[in-house]
Amino acid sequence: MLSLQTEGVFVSPLFMSLLLFCAMSLFAGTMADRYWLLRAGERENRNDRLVARFRALLSIGFGQKRLLYEKGAGWMHVAIFIGFLVVSLRTVTLIGRGYDPHFNLPFFDGPVGLAYAVVKDTFALIILLALAYAAFRRLVVKPERLHLSVEANLILLWIASLIASDLLGDAAALRLDPGNHEHGYAWLSTALSGLFAGSETATVQTWFNIMFWFHNIAVLAFLNFLPFGKHFHVLTALPAVFLRRLTPSAALEKMEFEGMETFGVGKLEDFSWRRFLDMYTCTECGRCNEMCPADLTGKPLNPRSIIVNERDQAYAMADHLTAVGKLKGAGKTAVATALIEAQERPALIGEVNDEEAIWACTTCGYCQTHCPVMIDHIPNIVDQRRHLVMMEAKVPSVLQGALKGLENNSNPWNVSAAGREDWIGELEVPLLRDKGTAEYLLFVGCAGSFDSRNVEVMQALCVLLNEAGVDYAVLGTEEGCCGDPARRVGHEYLFQMQAPQNITTFQKYKVGKVVTACPHCFNMIANEYPDFGLADVEVIHHSELLSELVDKGKLKLKGGEKTKVTFHDSCYLGRHNDIYDAPRKVLSGIDGIEQIEMPRNKREGFCCGAGGGRMFMEEDIGTRINHNRIDEAAETGADEVCTACPFCLTMLGDAIKETERSDSLRARDIAEVMLENLER
Ligand code: SF4
Ligand code: SF4
Repeated sequence: MLSLQTEGVFVSPLFMSLLLFCAMSLFAGTMADRYWLLRAGERENRNDRLVARFRALLSIGFGQKRLLYEKGAGWMHVAIFIGFLVVSLRTVTLIGRGYDPHFNLPFFDGPVGLAYAVVKDTFALIILLALAYAAFRRLVVKPERLHLSVEANLILLWIASLIASDLLGDAAALRLDPGNHEHGYAWLSTALSGLFAGSETATVQTWFNIMFWFHNIAVLAFLNFLPFGKHFHVLTALPAVFLRRLTPSAALEKMEFEGMETFGVGKLEDFSWRRFLDMYTCTECGRCNEMCPADLTGKPLNPRSIIVNERDQAYAMADHLTAVGKLKGAGKTAVATALIEAQERPALIGEVNDEEAIWACTTCGYCQTHCPVMIDHIPNIVDQRRHLVMMEAKVPSVLQGALKGLENNSNPWNVSAAGREDWIGELEVPLLRDKGTAEYLLFVGCAGSFDSRNVEVMQALCVLLNEAGVDYAVLGTEEGCCGDPARRVGHEYLFQMQAPQNITTFQKYKVGKVVTACPHCFNMIANEYPDFGLADVEVIHHSELLSELVDKGKLKLKGGEKTKVTFHDSCYLGRHNDIYDAPRKVLSGIDGIEQIEMPRNKREGFCCGAGGGRMFMEEDIGTRINHNRIDEAAETGADEVCTACPFCLTMLGDAIKETERSDSLRARDIAEVMLENLER
C-alpha cells in the first residue's frame, strides 16, 4: 500500500490523537444513547441458532441477496457496499499514517499491498460510477418509491469526496515520490498524478496535506453523522440481519398471558428491542411499499411509513426512552413502568400510525420478504392489532360478527358447528372417528366446510383422493377453526383457545400427516401449532399431494379443451411457505392447458386482499385489491385464473362478477381443474 517516502508533508501524532479522541468520544456518546433508547424495548432472545444467523449474515448481509432481487439499483448498492469494505482498509491505514507516514497494515508492505492497490483503485472507480448512477436516479429518474431527501444527496456527495480525496492524496504522493513501488499498481492514482505534472514540489505537498487531512476529518465526521439519519443503516444493517427473526415467515410470536397486565403494543415501550433496531436500520428505500396491496389500492397503509413514523416518535421522545432503557437495564421495572405511564405522548395507534392503516394489512408478506435489512412489518402491525382488540376492545364492526362466529361456532361464518360435516353429503368421505386411523388427516378448514363455492372444491378433492386410493379421513364435527382469522386480527386469546383443541384432537388420533387445501390452515398447522405442542406431524398442501399422485401414476390426466390458464399465487402458500411449483406442475400435466404467467407472479405475486382477516372486513377505502388482481389476470388473455387457496378463490370469483367478466373468465381451484381432466 502506498506510503509516503518524502519530506515536507504534515503528519502530526498529536493532531491525529486529538482528532480521534474528539470524534470517537462523540461517537461513543451517541451510540450509548442509541443503545439505552433501544433498551427501552422489551426483552427478546435473538442469540439462538448461531449457525443459521451466520448463514443469513453471509447470504443476506454480505451477499446482499435481497438487494439483488432488483437489477440496476440492486447492483449499484452492492458495488457501493463491497467498495466500502475494500476501502475501509485504506481508511485504517490513513489514520495510522497520521502517526507514522510509513505506516502500513501487517503484510501490506509487499505483494499483498501491491495487489490491494490494484483492487482498491478499481473499487474506487466502481464506487464513483455507482454514486454517479445513484445521483442520476435520484435527480433525474426520480423513482416513485424513493424519498428524495437532502440527506441522501449529501451522503452521496460525502462518499464521493472521501474517495476523491483518497485518490488525489495518493496521486500527490506518487508525484512527490516517483520511485514509489506502487507506481502503476495504484493505477487510478498513477493516472491522476499526471494532474500535478509541472507543479512545484511545495504545491504538491500542500495538495497532499489538504487531501490527507480532509479525508481523515471527513471520515470521522461521516461516522458521527450516520446515527442521526437513515444512513444509520450503514452501521446497523449487518447486526440487524444477524439478529433477524428465524421463525417461518408468517409465524407470529406466541403471547404469554400469565402474569401479563397489558397485551400487544400500544406504546413504543411495549415493542421488543428489535423493533427499535428496525427503526434505526430502515433505509427508507421503499422496497416494502412497491407491491403492498393496501398502499397500491389507496388504503392509508404504507409499510415504510409505519417504521418511519415510529422512528420519528422514538427520536422525539429520546430523552424519555433513554431514561426508561436505563431503568429497565438496571432491573428497576416498576420505576420504569411508572415513568412510562406518566409520559404524555401522541397515541401510537391513531396519531403516530393511522388506525385504519393497522387494519388495512393483508399480511401478504411482500414488504418483509423484500426488505433488504430484514425488517418485520407483520409482527409490528399484528402487535398493534392485539392491543386494539384485547386492550381497547376496538374491532371494526364487520369483524365483530366473524369473531362472534369463531367464539360460538369455531367458524367465521357463524354457521352451527354441528353442520361442519354437512358438506360431505352423499360423497364417500371417511371420518376419523369411524376409521380410527388414516395415513392422512384431511384438514378441511372453515371455508371448505361452510362456504358453498369452496365446498365444491373440497368435494372435488375428495373424489380425486378416492380415485387415487389415498388412505385419508376427516375430523368432521371434531374439527375446529385452525385459528388463522382470530390470530391475524389480533385476537390471540381466542386463537389460543382454538389451537389446543385441534392439537388435542390430532394427538387423540395419533395423526402423523395432515393435508389441507387451505394455505392459511397449512401455515397454522405447520408453522404455528408447534409452539403449542404439536410435534412430529408432516403437513402438506393439496397441490403437493396431487402433484405426487400424478407422478406416481395414481392419478392420470387426459387432454382437455384448449384453455389459457394463469395461476394466482396465494401469499400464504407462495411467499410465506415457498410453494410455487407444485400447483403449476399439476396444471402443466394437463394437455390442452396453456399456462400464462401474470407479470406479478411467485415471490412478486400480488395479494387477493383476503389475508390477515381482511376476508371478513369491508374494503371501503380506495380501489379493491381483488379487482386490481383480476384486471392483471384478464390482461394476460387467460380464459381461467386458477388458484390453490379458498380465500383467493372467493376473492377472485367475486372480482370476476363485480367487474362483469363472467363471460370471458372464470376462477377455479386446481383440484377442480384436475377432476375435470381426470382419466377414470
Ligand atoms: S422497511 Fe425495509 S424495505 Fe421498507 S423502506 Fe425500510 S429498509 Fe426499505
Ligand atoms: S404484509 Fe402486505 S399488506 Fe401488510 S404492509 Fe406488508 S405488503 Fe402491505
